[in-house]
Amino acid sequence: MNGTKAHILIVEDEEPLTLLLRYNLESEGYDVETVGRGDEADTRLKERVPDLIVLDWMLPGLSGIELCRRLRARPETKNLPIIMLTARGEESERVRGLATGADDYIVKPFSVPELVARVGALLRRAKPERIADVLTLGDIELDRQKKRVSRAGRDVDLGPTEYRLLEFFMERPGRVLSREQLLDGVWGSEVYIDERTVDVHVGRLRKALNRGRAVDPIRTVRGAGYALNDRFAKIA
Ligand code: CA
Repeated sequence: MNGTKAHILIVEDEEPLTLLLRYNLESEGYDVETVGRGDEADTRLKERVPDLIVLDWMLPGLSGIELCRRLRARPETKNLPIIMLTARGEESERVRGLATGADDYIVKPFSVPELVARVGALLRRAKPERIADVLTLGDIELDRQKKRVSRAGRDVDLGPTEYRLLEFFMERPGRVLSREQLLDGVWGSEVYIDERTVDVHVGRLRKALNRGRAVDPIRTVRGAGYALNDRFAKIA
């Protein structure tokens, strides 16, 4: 999957509820993954960080609250949006849930539209770039609905890979992204591609963006990767 769909991890051991949530979140266009045990979720989260996690309080293997505490202690998941599910009766414990760092909580039984709404709200709050239809950076504009890119009002012609690459960069303005991060984000982590392929496509993207212009928005960071800058640096 590429960067356009928000990836949601549901950690819940009640299978009917998991299925219901998966169905409803997928029909909202999210990329959904589910795990039924707390310890499995812990392992999975070390491999891949989703955009949001729906986390049940009572889980086999490792409790939701302990997992939440661990996630907040790691730099990669420190700011990961977490919605905690609690059963009625655990309500007095909700305060503890929030104290350990969940962003929101919902008491079971809850209405699914309510949860879907909260997921949307939390994602918008956490990552506005991911939800927006039109991304802008400096004089570059990327329209996700129309799949169109322009620079200073002129259309930029991009191949599908260069388009996804630019989108991935624009969702993370100014951040230095390693070749590995770009590979995972644009091509997917299951595909084996030589890291030099990344350089080739960054080169093509650069050429398309800079046509007839001296200012290059893509910065090459020696030994680290690439960054797309909002304050465009002059590069020879
Ligand atoms: Ca449970």
